[in-house]
Amino acid sequence: IAAHQPADTLSPIDWLRENTYNQPTYTLPISKLEALIADKPRAAFIALVRNSEEVGMVHSILQVEARFNSRKTHRYDWVFFNDEPFTESFMAAVSNATSSTVYFEQIIDKHWRMPDWIDKSRYDVGRQFQGSIGVGKSWLESYHQMCRWNSGLFALEDRLKNYDWYWRVEPDVQYTCNINYDVFRFMRDNNMAYGFNMAILDDARSFPSLWERTQTFKRYNPDMVNPEADMRWLLHQTAEPDRMVRSGSGYHAGRGDQYNNCQFYSNFEVGSLDFFRSKEHQAYFQHLDKSGGFFYERYGDAPIHTLSVSMFLPKRRVWFFRDIGYSHGICESCPPHVSKLPMGPEPDARRIKAAELSSSMGRGHRRIDLLSDDLAKKKLIP
Ligand code: GDP
Ligand code: MN
Repeated sequence: IAAHQPADTLSPIDWLRENTYNQPTYTLPISKLEALIADKPRAAFIALVRNSEEVGMVHSILQVEARFNSRKTHRYDWVFFNDEPFTESFMAAVSNATSSTVYFEQIIDKHWRMPDWIDKSRYDVGRQFQGSIGVGKSWLESYHQMCRWNSGLFALEDRLKNYDWYWRVEPDVQYTCNINYDVFRFMRDNNMAYGFNMAILDDARSFPSLWERTQTFKRYNPDMVNPEADMRWLLHQTAEPDRMVRSGSGYHAGRGDQYNNCQFYSNFEVGSLDFFRSKEHQAYFQHLDKSGGFFYERYGDAPIHTLSVSMFLPKRRVWFFRDIGYSHGICESCPPHVSKLPMGPEPDARRIKAAELSSSMGRGHRRIDLLSDDLAKKKLIP
């Protein structure tokens, strides 16, 4: 897995001390500003989103822009993905909410459609069962497709070829603190590959076979597992002998090691695209995909990213962004020692704001067309 070699030997904490800004960008000497812009990481915000989520998406963009991205030294691109064409209204609203370059992509059929090796009746039986025991959204085909795309296919999208880093943003998230350093630069300069800000326990009934299949993958690809990886935090010890240890062949998982279902809450994540495009992650994804687990069960992208990152990366390349205040739904991370800002407008005001942006005559219609390369080279903003 390709890794950026840091120019110096600052520890990540020292890097943060040296690169946290307490002053607005305009106080930078112009030469310093230009140098920073010239050396910007190739990075983008990415969002998989439906047209119907326009209001929530605008809300998220305004948060990210205000807390982080509107600085002259940042202005990272936004790339929006959808399984359907985006509406004019959606494109106008979101492109008016940022002064960065925006791209709108329709996901290709191959990355979204249910693969032809899926047995439809087995899928129907599986989702009826999971629905009956209350596994959230398991009955929605689109939810399975969404989880599959987010697990491995997103990194293969053509539009992301020219980026090294992504930061995932969903509609209706809150960023509750200012972020006073360049998160992408932090990732690059410190040779990080994955950053998270919360870990949760999810409903393990959505992926009953995931751990067994992960063990099988490890057993057949021992050379892919990073020698400095740390999976201990994902295991709990049971009194039972490990069901997965069968015979010989030099594989020892240890007695009773079972996945504890702990996972990075992938709703917020900053990651290296090289990592998610790597042969390790892609082989693991293929292995899971071929098993049908995205449809017969409801494999989620959070446990898959978590297991992959914890297997294939050395622990030091994974970073806990404990300082990024964040919430989505019932999950919230509120760092101590960082002042919390207002949560943004109430729902009615959000709707009004989105409608205003959508109808404003600004840059909304100067959008970039789907995967049209020479149009793509043109910046939306002068
Ligand atoms: P949850 O956060 O796990 O409950 O999942 P959500 O239903 O909120 O889905 C996660 C995000 O993926 C949503 O906010 C949507 O933006 C996006 N998403 C989910 N399903 C679809 C879909 O069918 N099409 C598109 N374009 N986006 C989707
Ligand atoms: Mn959600």
